[in-house]
Amino acid sequence: MWTCPNCGRAFRSVNQQHYCGKAPESIDEYINAQDEALREPLRQVRAAIQAQLPEAKEKISWSMPTYWQGGNILHFAAAKKHVGLYPGPEAVAHFADKLDEGGYQYSKGTIRIPYSGDLPLALIAEIAAWCRDTGNPA
Ligand SMILES: [Zn+2]
Repeated sequence: MWTCPNCGRAFRSVNQQHYCGKAPESIDEYINAQDEALREPLRQVRAAIQAQLPEAKEKISWSMPTYWQGGNILHFAAAKKHVGLYPGPEAVAHFADKLDEGGYQYSKGTIRIPYSGDLPLALIAEIAAWCRDTGNPA
């Protein structure tokens, strides 16, 4: 028997691989669990989205901060070097020109916004508003 000193769960073998720690249950917990340097940019992204989605429920879904309004309409997630925005493939296609203009990497359903440089909060707000108005599934 081995007890993980971090999360306190018991396992059969020493240093057993596992998802360690309590999964965040709210966006606040999620942000506070990130490296300190990432928290402020994440809070700014959240505020930009939240302002456009005042009716949406904030929750954690697929382990990501999620805006739910009749369905999941937008997620975001913290990576080491960027914030991932997951507005769904239709939203990404709709904003492809603007994303190219800003030099942002994107692929089907995912937009990568680097922490370096200014966060494009106006564009994030515009995407969130589009998701709100279309009832976009993410
Ligand atoms: Zn653990």
